[in-house]
Amino acid sequence: MAFDEMYQEIIRDHYKNPRNKRPLTHLKAVENPSCGDSVKVEVDSDSHQIRQVSFDGSGCSISMCSASMMSELLSGKSVSEAKTLVRRFLSVIRGELPPDTLDDLGDLAALKGIVELPVRVKCATLAWHAVEKALETV
Ligand code: ZN
Repeated sequence: MAFDEMYQEIIRDHYKNPRNKRPLTHLKAVENPSCGDSVKVEVDSDSHQIRQVSFDGSGCSISMCSASMMSELLSGKSVSEAKTLVRRFLSVIRGELPPDTLDDLGDLAALKGIVELPVRVKCATLAWHAVEKALETV
């Protein structure tokens, strides 16, 4: 299987079987007007340790799979570790770090190609900006 096909398969899988997606009613959604994506993120944690990151929303496959991957990566991490991972992901997507930096982050490596698709960057980062905000308040 070609590398790109493998990545597309990972993206499809997260889109079809999103991790940690459940209805979140009391939260405001973060919107991406350019393609109608809408994501809510909830962090269940104490001040040091995250138990679970959940999300809810609708939108294109990139926004939904990125939210699913984010929730899977950050669930169970410490709050400071999670903040570092969020900064790392956003730096890669903004082109400040090489795309290969995502290779250490499991399924997120499948989003490397996004760096070359500026119109999809908002889709890929929506859930990450939402969780960044949520982590500020834990
Ligand atoms: Zn989108």
